[in-house]
Amino acid sequence: VVNYAPFTLLPSAVPSALFEQAYAVQQDFNLLVDAISQNKEFLEHTLASTIKADDFTARLFRIHMQVLEEGLAQSVFLGINRSDYMFDCGVDGTPALKQIEINTIAASFGGLTSRTAAVHGQVLKVLGKSEEASRLLPNNPSKGLALGIAKAWELYGSQSAVVMFLVEEVQRNIFDQRCVENELWNRNIRVIRKRFRDVFEKGSLDDAKRLYMDGQEVAVVYYREGYVPENYDQQNWEARLLLERSRAVKCPDIATQLAGTKKVQQELSRPGTLERLLPGHTEAVARMRATFAGLYSLDVGEEGDKMAAMAIADPDQFVLKPQREGGGNNLYGEELRQVLEKIRDSPERTSYILMDKIKPQPAMNYLLRAHSPLQVSECISELGIFGVYVRQGKEIVMNKAAGHLLRTKAIEHADGGVAAGVAVLDTPYLV
Ligand code: ADP
Ligand code: MG
Repeated sequence: VVNYAPFTLLPSAVPSALFEQAYAVQQDFNLLVDAISQNKEFLEHTLASTIKADDFTARLFRIHMQVLEEGLAQSVFLGINRSDYMFDCGVDGTPALKQIEINTIAASFGGLTSRTAAVHGQVLKVLGKSEEASRLLPNNPSKGLALGIAKAWELYGSQSAVVMFLVEEVQRNIFDQRCVENELWNRNIRVIRKRFRDVFEKGSLDDAKRLYMDGQEVAVVYYREGYVPENYDQQNWEARLLLERSRAVKCPDIATQLAGTKKVQQELSRPGTLERLLPGHTEAVARMRATFAGLYSLDVGEEGDKMAAMAIADPDQFVLKPQREGGGNNLYGEELRQVLEKIRDSPERTSYILMDKIKPQPAMNYLLRAHSPLQVSECISELGIFGVYVRQGKEIVMNKAAGHLLRTKAIEHADGGVAAGVAVLDTPYLV
């Protein structure tokens, strides 16, 4: 069944200063994620408590350690991430850019959103607002992402090798991926689409740890899968290990996936952590820190006890987040209070982090979704900036912001993105 992707009827107002701020900090975040991925001690130390409480993070971490012990075969690294923000409305009504999270694996909608500005431009013209239509910014993340993949493919250095998109068993968001794929074909780079199951059945490594699928050498593995426990059975874990051990450029490698965990995000907000990870980058550190909301550890100990008590007393000021990706996992309000009360004296508490709740100013819009009734809703938006970088050995050879994504949802949904059926695609109208 083919449905149109959900979208807002009208573009949503976004303060231009915050939009520019989000673009200006993206290269910093690229460098930060890359630095974390190379810092074994930091990941080990930061994730120690999470690994005890969360089996999924523990399994990823074990692969990370195994690959490091064997010695990395991979020498070219490609990161495609998306840093997401909401516009927090302060007491005086001034909006501030606050980061929700950085997605370091399978960050999606770069493809589909390359088309949304044209849709909204058309709608505005039909409404007789050509002047406004001409002010919508062009946006083409699919090209930016493909340029990163193409660079990694080129540096891998085998003309006949292919790019492998690792996709889900049941793929609902295929057209988003095709936009990126087509950009690669346009550059004469061959793309294959495979699942973990295919890798388990037909993947192999040669003596130099070159990865082969059906006898075809793979230069780049682009994961659009593998970020939630449900993506894995025992065979899929074995397939993941095979990919990670290989010399192919993984986007992301497992260390970069771990760099995107909620626990790492919380640790980054501690005073001094950014400075230690990026020594000498004073301005970059200040730019990044300016976007951080309050984040708190629930690790066993005094600090965690205090935060748990605070959140139970005033749950509407916080979001409780497990170490999961993909939307729909966070807890809010009364539910947050109940869950936290239940686990407050148990080590299970450490599989969550706490975050200050961001409160944006709602605006009215129509959310258009296949087979859903049309109604005007009070909405809030989340802005994402795509980051792309390539590193060869120790040298960064590409570091870019590759475009943006605006997603909008009705305020009654606390959580969930486009894939979760809650948010819809939007276009920023800068004000
Ligand atoms: P996931 O990895 O599941 O996408 P996120 O941290 O992005 O987790 O949270 C999912 C959604 O929950 C976000 O898209 C946002 O709508 C909402 N959300 C997350 N953190 C906050 C917060 N601190 N304040 C308000 N809403 C939040
Ligand atoms: Mg998210």
